[in-house]
Amino acid sequence: MESIKPLQFDGVSTKRPMVIAGPCSAESEEQILTTAHDLSKAGVKIFRAGIWKPRTKPGGFEGVGLIGLPWLQKVKKETGMLVATEVATRAHVELALNAGIDILWIGARTSANPFAMQEIADTLQGVDIPVLVKNPVNPDLELWIGAMQRLKNAGITRIGAIHRGFSAYGKHIYRNMPQWHIPIELQRRFPNLSIFCDPSHMGGKRELIAPLSQQAMDMGFDGLMIESHCNPNCALSDKDQQITPEILNIIMNTLVVRDTTQTTESLTLLRQQIDQIDNDLIEALGKRMRISREIGQYKKEHSMPVVQTNRYDSILNSRAQLAIEMGMSGDFMKTVYQAIHEESVRQQIEILNK
Ligand code: PEP
Ligand code: MN
Repeated sequence: MESIKPLQFDGVSTKRPMVIAGPCSAESEEQILTTAHDLSKAGVKIFRAGIWKPRTKPGGFEGVGLIGLPWLQKVKKETGMLVATEVATRAHVELALNAGIDILWIGARTSANPFAMQEIADTLQGVDIPVLVKNPVNPDLELWIGAMQRLKNAGITRIGAIHRGFSAYGKHIYRNMPQWHIPIELQRRFPNLSIFCDPSHMGGKRELIAPLSQQAMDMGFDGLMIESHCNPNCALSDKDQQITPEILNIIMNTLVVRDTTQTTESLTLLRQQIDQIDNDLIEALGKRMRISREIGQYKKEHSMPVVQTNRYDSILNSRAQLAIEMGMSGDFMKTVYQAIHEESVRQQIEILNK
Protein backbone atom coordinates (compact mmCIF):
# COMPACT_ATOMS: atom_id res chain seq x y z
CA MET A 1 0.00 0.00 0.00
CA GLU A 2 2.92 2.34 0.65
CA SER A 3 3.77 2.37 -3.07
CA ILE A 4 0.26 3.29 -4.11
CA LYS A 5 0.04 6.18 -6.58
CA PRO A 6 -2.68 8.79 -7.16
CA LEU A 7 -5.41 7.32 -9.35
CA GLN A 8 -5.55 8.24 -12.98
CA PHE A 9 -8.42 7.15 -15.17
CA ASP A 10 -7.75 6.88 -18.88
CA GLY A 11 -8.62 10.14 -20.59
CA VAL A 12 -10.01 11.78 -17.44
CA SER A 13 -8.49 14.91 -15.90
CA THR A 14 -7.22 14.50 -12.34
CA LYS A 15 -8.41 17.98 -11.47
CA ARG A 16 -10.49 17.92 -8.27
CA PRO A 17 -13.16 16.72 -8.04
CA MET A 18 -13.06 13.66 -10.28
CA VAL A 19 -16.75 12.90 -10.59
CA ILE A 20 -18.32 9.47 -10.94
CA ALA A 21 -22.08 9.68 -11.41
CA GLY A 22 -24.96 7.50 -12.44
CA PRO A 23 -27.90 5.67 -10.99
CA CYS A 24 -27.86 3.47 -7.92
CA SER A 25 -29.08 0.64 -10.17
CA ALA A 26 -29.33 -0.06 -13.85
CA GLU A 27 -33.07 -0.55 -14.35
CA SER A 28 -33.69 -0.39 -18.09
CA GLU A 29 -31.77 0.41 -21.25
CA GLU A 30 -33.73 3.62 -21.65
CA GLN A 31 -33.07 4.79 -18.08
CA ILE A 32 -29.36 4.05 -18.43
CA LEU A 33 -28.93 5.77 -21.79
CA THR A 34 -31.04 8.83 -20.95
CA THR A 35 -29.19 9.35 -17.67
CA ALA A 36 -25.78 8.74 -19.26
CA HIS A 37 -26.33 11.19 -22.13
CA ASP A 38 -27.55 13.89 -19.74
CA LEU A 39 -24.61 13.33 -17.39
CA SER A 40 -22.20 13.40 -20.31
CA LYS A 41 -23.64 16.75 -21.39
CA ALA A 42 -23.05 17.97 -17.83
CA GLY A 43 -19.37 17.10 -18.24
CA VAL A 44 -19.29 13.82 -16.29
CA LYS A 45 -16.64 11.43 -17.64
CA ILE A 46 -17.23 8.36 -15.47
CA PHE A 47 -20.61 6.63 -15.34
CA ARG A 48 -21.66 4.34 -12.50
CA ALA A 49 -24.56 1.87 -12.32
CA GLY A 50 -25.15 -1.09 -10.04
CA ILE A 51 -25.90 -4.29 -11.94
CA TRP A 52 -25.96 -6.56 -8.89
CA LYS A 53 -27.43 -4.88 -5.82
CA PRO A 54 -26.72 -5.95 -2.25
CA ARG A 55 -30.05 -5.33 -0.48
CA THR A 56 -30.58 -5.47 3.24
CA LYS A 57 -33.56 -7.80 2.98
CA PRO A 58 -34.60 -10.33 0.36
CA GLY A 59 -37.50 -9.56 -1.90
CA GLY A 60 -36.37 -6.08 -2.97
CA PHE A 61 -34.94 -5.14 -6.34
CA GLU A 62 -31.62 -6.99 -6.52
CA GLY A 63 -30.42 -5.52 -9.79
CA VAL A 64 -31.07 -6.51 -13.38
CA GLY A 65 -27.94 -8.69 -13.51
CA LEU A 66 -26.32 -9.79 -16.75
CA ILE A 67 -28.79 -8.13 -19.11
CA GLY A 68 -27.61 -4.72 -17.88
CA LEU A 69 -24.01 -5.16 -19.04
CA PRO A 70 -24.72 -4.47 -22.76
CA TRP A 71 -26.46 -1.23 -21.68
CA LEU A 72 -23.21 -0.08 -20.09
CA GLN A 73 -21.32 -1.07 -23.26
CA LYS A 74 -23.74 1.13 -25.18
CA VAL A 75 -23.05 4.03 -22.79
CA LYS A 76 -19.34 3.67 -23.52
CA LYS A 77 -19.93 3.58 -27.26
CA GLU A 78 -22.42 6.42 -27.43
CA THR A 79 -20.91 8.85 -24.90
CA GLY A 80 -17.24 7.87 -24.58
CA MET A 81 -17.61 7.82 -20.79
CA LEU A 82 -15.80 5.20 -18.71
CA VAL A 83 -18.22 2.82 -17.02
CA ALA A 84 -18.09 1.48 -13.48
CA THR A 85 -20.03 -1.16 -11.60
CA GLU A 86 -20.03 -2.91 -8.22
CA VAL A 87 -18.65 -6.42 -7.85
CA ALA A 88 -18.98 -8.69 -4.85
CA THR A 89 -18.23 -12.21 -6.11
CA ARG A 90 -15.93 -14.10 -8.50
CA ALA A 91 -18.78 -14.35 -11.01
CA HIS A 92 -19.45 -10.60 -10.92
CA VAL A 93 -15.79 -9.85 -11.57
CA GLU A 94 -15.56 -12.30 -14.49
CA LEU A 95 -18.76 -11.05 -16.09
CA ALA A 96 -17.78 -7.38 -15.63
CA LEU A 97 -14.32 -7.95 -17.11
CA ASN A 98 -15.76 -9.87 -20.08
CA ALA A 99 -18.14 -7.01 -20.71
CA GLY A 100 -15.26 -4.50 -20.83
CA ILE A 101 -16.29 -2.56 -17.71
CA ASP A 102 -13.57 0.07 -17.10
CA ILE A 103 -13.70 0.53 -13.34
CA LEU A 104 -14.87 -1.76 -10.53
CA TRP A 105 -16.01 -0.73 -7.08
CA ILE A 106 -16.39 -2.77 -3.96
CA GLY A 107 -19.44 -2.03 -1.81
CA ALA A 108 -19.43 -1.38 1.92
CA ARG A 109 -20.91 -4.77 2.81
CA THR A 110 -18.24 -6.52 0.76
CA SER A 111 -15.20 -4.58 1.98
CA ALA A 112 -16.24 -5.65 5.49
CA ASN A 113 -15.85 -9.31 4.48
CA PRO A 114 -12.27 -10.64 4.13
CA PHE A 115 -13.41 -13.89 2.45
CA ALA A 116 -15.27 -11.97 -0.26
CA MET A 117 -12.36 -9.54 -0.65
CA GLN A 118 -9.88 -12.38 -1.06
CA GLU A 119 -12.09 -14.06 -3.64
CA ILE A 120 -12.30 -10.82 -5.62
CA ALA A 121 -8.55 -10.24 -5.32
CA ASP A 122 -7.80 -13.80 -6.51
CA THR A 123 -10.08 -13.31 -9.50
CA LEU A 124 -8.32 -10.05 -10.37
CA GLN A 125 -4.82 -11.57 -10.25
CA GLY A 126 -2.94 -10.30 -13.30
CA VAL A 127 -5.68 -7.88 -14.41
CA ASP A 128 -4.97 -4.17 -14.79
CA ILE A 129 -8.13 -2.31 -13.83
CA PRO A 130 -8.86 0.52 -11.38
CA VAL A 131 -10.74 -0.64 -8.28
CA LEU A 132 -12.42 1.67 -5.80
CA VAL A 133 -12.99 0.33 -2.31
CA LYS A 134 -15.79 1.75 -0.18
CA ASN A 135 -15.28 1.89 3.56
CA PRO A 136 -16.72 -1.13 5.37
CA VAL A 137 -20.16 -0.58 6.96
CA ASN A 138 -18.54 -0.48 10.40
CA PRO A 139 -15.94 2.17 11.30
CA ASP A 140 -12.89 -0.08 11.13
CA LEU A 141 -9.96 1.56 9.39
CA GLU A 142 -7.79 -1.58 9.53
CA LEU A 143 -10.50 -3.65 7.81
CA TRP A 144 -10.76 -0.98 5.08
CA ILE A 145 -6.98 -0.95 4.60
CA GLY A 146 -6.93 -4.76 4.67
CA ALA A 147 -9.46 -4.90 1.83
CA MET A 148 -7.23 -2.65 -0.28
CA GLN A 149 -4.12 -4.60 0.67
CA ARG A 150 -5.65 -7.83 -0.65
CA LEU A 151 -6.13 -6.15 -4.04
CA LYS A 152 -2.65 -4.65 -3.95
CA ASN A 153 -1.15 -8.08 -3.16
CA ALA A 154 -3.00 -9.49 -6.18
CA GLY A 155 -1.19 -6.98 -8.40
CA ILE A 156 -3.86 -4.29 -8.67
CA THR A 157 -2.01 -0.98 -8.76
CA ARG A 158 -4.82 1.45 -9.46
CA ILE A 159 -6.69 1.56 -6.16
CA GLY A 160 -8.84 4.31 -4.67
CA ALA A 161 -10.90 4.59 -1.49
CA ILE A 162 -14.45 5.87 -1.09
CA HIS A 163 -15.79 7.27 2.18
CA ARG A 164 -19.54 6.54 2.20
CA GLY A 165 -20.14 6.87 5.92
CA PHE A 166 -20.69 4.22 8.59
CA SER A 167 -23.94 2.69 9.69
CA ALA A 168 -25.29 3.31 13.18
CA TYR A 169 -28.32 2.04 15.04
CA GLY A 170 -31.34 4.33 15.26
CA LYS A 171 -32.53 7.36 13.35
CA HIS A 172 -29.95 9.98 12.45
CA ILE A 173 -29.62 12.98 10.17
CA TYR A 174 -27.30 10.92 7.97
CA ARG A 175 -28.11 7.54 6.52
CA ASN A 176 -24.49 6.54 7.14
CA MET A 177 -22.57 8.70 9.55
CA PRO A 178 -19.55 10.47 8.13
CA GLN A 179 -16.52 10.01 10.37
CA TRP A 180 -14.11 12.28 8.57
CA HIS A 181 -11.22 11.54 10.91
CA ILE A 182 -11.11 7.97 9.53
CA PRO A 183 -10.41 8.86 5.85
CA ILE A 184 -8.13 11.65 7.11
CA GLU A 185 -6.10 9.08 9.06
CA LEU A 186 -6.13 6.86 5.95
CA GLN A 187 -4.73 9.77 3.94
CA ARG A 188 -2.10 10.45 6.60
CA ARG A 189 -0.89 6.84 6.34
CA PHE A 190 -1.07 6.68 2.55
CA PRO A 191 -0.56 10.25 1.31
CA ASN A 192 -0.78 9.28 -2.38
CA LEU A 193 -3.97 7.24 -2.12
CA SER A 194 -6.86 8.92 -3.97
CA ILE A 195 -9.92 9.29 -1.78
CA PHE A 196 -13.47 9.87 -2.96
CA CYS A 197 -16.57 10.80 -1.02
CA ASP A 198 -19.99 9.30 -1.71
CA PRO A 199 -22.40 11.93 -0.35
CA SER A 200 -25.40 9.96 -1.67
CA HIS A 201 -25.08 6.94 0.63
CA MET A 202 -23.73 9.13 3.41
CA GLY A 203 -26.63 11.60 3.44
CA GLY A 204 -29.41 9.36 2.19
CA LYS A 205 -31.32 12.45 1.07
CA ARG A 206 -31.06 14.80 -1.88
CA GLU A 207 -30.64 17.96 0.14
CA LEU A 208 -27.48 16.66 1.81
CA ILE A 209 -25.60 16.02 -1.46
CA ALA A 210 -24.43 19.62 -1.94
CA PRO A 211 -23.24 20.32 1.63
CA LEU A 212 -21.50 16.95 1.95
CA SER A 213 -19.79 17.37 -1.42
CA GLN A 214 -18.57 20.79 -0.34
CA GLN A 215 -17.32 19.39 2.95
CA ALA A 216 -15.44 16.66 1.09
CA MET A 217 -13.81 19.25 -1.16
CA ASP A 218 -12.89 21.42 1.82
CA MET A 219 -11.20 18.41 3.35
CA GLY A 220 -9.15 17.78 0.26
CA PHE A 221 -10.90 14.69 -1.15
CA ASP A 222 -9.96 13.88 -4.73
CA GLY A 223 -13.35 12.98 -6.07
CA LEU A 224 -17.05 12.37 -5.62
CA MET A 225 -19.30 9.43 -6.40
CA ILE A 226 -22.86 10.70 -6.72
CA GLU A 227 -26.04 8.81 -7.54
CA SER A 228 -27.95 10.38 -10.41
CA HIS A 229 -31.10 9.12 -12.10
CA CYS A 230 -33.14 10.59 -14.97
CA ASN A 231 -36.30 10.18 -12.89
CA PRO A 232 -35.28 9.79 -9.23
CA ASN A 233 -38.80 9.55 -7.82
CA CYS A 234 -39.35 6.36 -9.80
CA ALA A 235 -35.97 4.76 -8.97
CA LEU A 236 -36.15 1.10 -7.93
CA SER A 237 -33.49 1.58 -5.23
CA ASP A 238 -32.28 4.53 -3.14
CA LYS A 239 -34.78 6.95 -4.65
CA ASP A 240 -34.59 9.53 -1.84
CA GLN A 241 -30.91 10.17 -2.43
CA GLN A 242 -30.74 10.29 -6.22
CA ILE A 243 -30.64 13.58 -8.09
CA THR A 244 -31.27 14.39 -11.74
CA PRO A 245 -28.27 15.10 -13.99
CA GLU A 246 -29.55 18.68 -14.15
CA ILE A 247 -29.32 19.12 -10.36
CA LEU A 248 -25.95 17.39 -10.34
CA ASN A 249 -24.72 19.92 -12.87
CA ILE A 250 -25.93 22.81 -10.69
CA ILE A 251 -24.26 21.33 -7.60
CA MET A 252 -20.98 20.84 -9.46
CA ASN A 253 -21.06 24.40 -10.72
CA THR A 254 -21.61 25.83 -7.25
CA LEU A 255 -18.92 23.73 -5.52
CA VAL A 256 -16.03 25.82 -4.30
CA VAL A 257 -12.82 23.89 -4.82
CA ARG A 258 -9.92 25.47 -3.02
CA ASP A 259 -6.25 24.80 -3.21
CA THR A 260 -5.57 22.08 -0.64
CA THR A 261 -2.05 23.22 0.22
CA GLN A 262 -3.03 26.75 1.16
CA THR A 263 -3.46 27.77 4.79
CA THR A 264 -3.95 31.47 5.15
CA GLU A 265 -3.57 33.82 8.07
CA SER A 266 -7.28 34.55 8.04
CA LEU A 267 -7.92 30.81 8.47
CA THR A 268 -5.83 30.86 11.65
CA LEU A 269 -7.84 33.83 12.90
CA LEU A 270 -11.12 32.10 12.16
CA ARG A 271 -9.92 28.97 13.94
CA GLN A 272 -9.01 31.03 16.99
CA GLN A 273 -12.56 32.36 17.03
CA ILE A 274 -13.92 28.81 16.85
CA ASP A 275 -11.69 27.78 19.78
CA GLN A 276 -12.99 30.70 21.81
CA ILE A 277 -16.62 29.88 21.02
CA ASP A 278 -16.05 26.24 21.97
CA ASN A 279 -14.61 27.32 25.33
CA ASP A 280 -17.68 29.48 25.92
CA LEU A 281 -19.96 26.60 24.92
CA ILE A 282 -18.30 24.21 27.36
CA GLU A 283 -18.44 26.76 30.16
CA ALA A 284 -22.13 27.38 29.51
CA LEU A 285 -22.76 23.63 29.57
CA GLY A 286 -20.91 23.41 32.89
CA LYS A 287 -23.23 26.10 34.31
CA ARG A 288 -26.26 24.26 32.95
CA MET A 289 -25.15 21.03 34.62
CA ARG A 290 -24.69 22.78 37.97
CA ILE A 291 -28.28 24.01 37.82
CA SER A 292 -29.36 20.58 36.76
CA ARG A 293 -27.79 19.14 39.90
CA GLU A 294 -29.71 21.69 42.00
CA ILE A 295 -32.88 20.52 40.31
CA GLY A 296 -31.81 16.96 41.13
CA GLN A 297 -31.51 17.94 44.79
CA TYR A 298 -35.00 19.46 44.73
CA LYS A 299 -36.46 16.34 43.09
CA LYS A 300 -34.78 14.17 45.69
CA GLU A 301 -36.21 16.19 48.58
CA HIS A 302 -39.69 16.03 47.04
CA SER A 303 -39.46 12.36 45.96
CA MET A 304 -39.93 13.26 42.32
CA PRO A 305 -38.68 11.06 39.43
CA VAL A 306 -35.55 12.28 37.64
CA VAL A 307 -36.95 12.10 34.12
CA GLN A 308 -40.13 13.92 33.22
CA THR A 309 -40.92 13.08 29.63
CA ASN A 310 -43.20 16.09 29.02
CA ARG A 311 -40.45 18.48 29.99
CA TYR A 312 -37.89 16.59 27.91
CA ASP A 313 -40.19 16.65 24.89
CA SER A 314 -40.83 20.35 25.15
CA ILE A 315 -37.07 21.07 25.54
CA LEU A 316 -36.27 19.05 22.40
CA ASN A 317 -38.97 20.73 20.33
CA SER A 318 -38.40 24.29 21.47
CA ARG A 319 -34.62 24.04 21.00
CA ALA A 320 -35.06 22.46 17.56
CA GLN A 321 -37.39 25.32 16.62
CA LEU A 322 -34.87 27.90 17.81
CA ALA A 323 -32.11 26.15 15.85
CA ILE A 324 -34.22 26.27 12.69
CA GLU A 325 -34.76 30.00 13.19
CA MET A 326 -30.99 30.39 13.38
CA GLY A 327 -30.35 28.53 10.14
CA MET A 328 -29.43 25.13 11.60
CA SER A 329 -31.17 21.83 11.20
CA GLY A 330 -33.74 20.91 13.83
CA ASP A 331 -32.55 17.29 13.78
CA PHE A 332 -29.02 18.42 14.52
CA MET A 333 -30.18 20.40 17.59
CA LYS A 334 -32.30 17.46 18.77
CA THR A 335 -29.21 15.25 18.64
CA VAL A 336 -27.29 17.85 20.66
CA TYR A 337 -30.06 18.10 23.26
CA GLN A 338 -30.44 14.35 23.52
CA ALA A 339 -26.79 14.19 24.52
CA ILE A 340 -27.11 17.13 26.94
CA HIS A 341 -30.20 15.58 28.51
CA GLU A 342 -28.44 12.24 28.90
CA GLU A 343 -25.61 13.90 30.82
CA SER A 344 -28.08 15.94 32.86
CA VAL A 345 -29.94 12.78 33.87
CA ARG A 346 -26.65 11.10 34.79
CA GLN A 347 -25.77 14.05 37.02
CA GLN A 348 -29.17 14.00 38.75
CA ILE A 349 -28.95 10.27 39.38
CA GLU A 350 -25.60 10.87 41.05
CA ILE A 351 -27.30 13.35 43.41
CA LEU A 352 -30.11 10.89 44.06
CA ASN A 353 -27.65 8.18 45.06
CA LYS A 354 -25.65 10.40 47.40
C1 PEP B 1 -24.10 1.67 -4.13
O1 PEP B 1 -23.10 2.33 -4.44
O2 PEP B 1 -25.16 1.70 -4.76
C2 PEP B 1 -24.06 0.90 -2.88
C3 PEP B 1 -24.76 -0.21 -2.70
O3 PEP B 1 -23.28 1.49 -1.97
P1 PEP B 1 -22.74 1.04 -0.51
O4 PEP B 1 -21.94 -0.18 -0.72
O5 PEP B 1 -21.95 2.25 -0.14
O6 PEP B 1 -23.95 0.85 0.37
MN1 MN C 1 -27.32 3.08 -3.91
